[in-house]
Amino acid sequence: MSVDAAVALLRTARRAVAMTGAGVSTGSGLPDFRSPGGLWASVDPMRVASRTAFDRDPAGFYRFYRERLDRLSRAAPNPAHHALAALERSGVLLAVITQNVDGLHHAAGSAAVIELHGNLREAVCTGCGEIRPIEVVRSALEAGTLPRCERCGGLWKPNVVLFEDLLPQDAWWAAMQAARQADVMLVAGSSLQVTPAAFLPQETLDAGGRLIIVNREPTPCDRRAAVTIHDDVTRVLPAIAERVTGSGAPGARDESGYGEEPLSPPPNSSTGTLR
Ligand SMILES: [Zn+2]
Repeated sequence: MSVDAAVALLRTARRAVAMTGAGVSTGSGLPDFRSPGGLWASVDPMRVASRTAFDRDPAGFYRFYRERLDRLSRAAPNPAHHALAALERSGVLLAVITQNVDGLHHAAGSAAVIELHGNLREAVCTGCGEIRPIEVVRSALEAGTLPRCERCGGLWKPNVVLFEDLLPQDAWWAAMQAARQADVMLVAGSSLQVTPAAFLPQETLDAGGRLIIVNREPTPCDRRAAVTIHDDVTRVLPAIAERVTGSGAPGARDESGYGEEPLSPPPNSSTGTLR
C-alpha cells in the first residue's frame, strides 16, 4: 500500500526535504484558504490581505488580522508537525519548506525551516525596516491603536508575504536549492495551487528526484508522484515517521490504521473537516 512505498522511499533517501501547506495546520485549528469553507470563501483576500489593502486601510487590515493573530496564539503543533520534526531529528529530512506563516514547525521542534511566505512571529516596520516580535502589533491593537514604530512613525506590518508582495528572496533561493538537491520531496497538506511554491516539486522531479504527496485532495502533481496518499496528514505523517525512524514502543498498537499490519484500506475522506 502507499504508506509502505513512502516508508521505503524515505528509508533509502539521502537528501529528503518536505514541503508543507495550509493542510498541515488545519489540524491545529487554523483554517486553510482555498478549500470550500476556507478563509477565502468568506472574505476577498485582495480586500483584507493585500499590500494595497494594508497601505490604503491599515485599520481594516488589522481588523481582519487581529482574529488571525488571536487564533494563532491559541494554536499548538499537531501530530503532522511533530512527525516532520521527528524525521528531521533522525536525519531523514534535511529541511521543511513551508507556505505557512504560523510558526508551528518551529514550535514542534523543526530546526531547518524555510518559510516561503514569512512568519507571524515577527512584525516589520514599513518605514525603517526594523524587525520586532509580533507583540509590538498585538499590544497596540489591544490598546485600540494602530501599531506604529516609535523610531520613524512607520506602521508595523506582520512579517508575512501579502498578496502583491514578492516572496523573500533568500527564502525562495534556499527553497529552490533544497528542491533541486532533494532525492525525495515529501509534499504534505498542499494542494500545489499557489505559484511559485507549486513549482518546487517540479524542480525536484526535473533534477531526478521523486515525490511523495500526502494531501486530502488531488493535486496537479499527483500523476508525476512516486507515491500519492489522499488522506489526513495528521494520521498519515505520524504513521510514516514512526516506521521510518523506528520510534514508537515495540509492540505498541498502532491506532492510525496505517501500521505494518493489519492492512486496512485507508478510509478515504471519512475523517471529517478539521477546523
Ligand atoms: Zn520604523
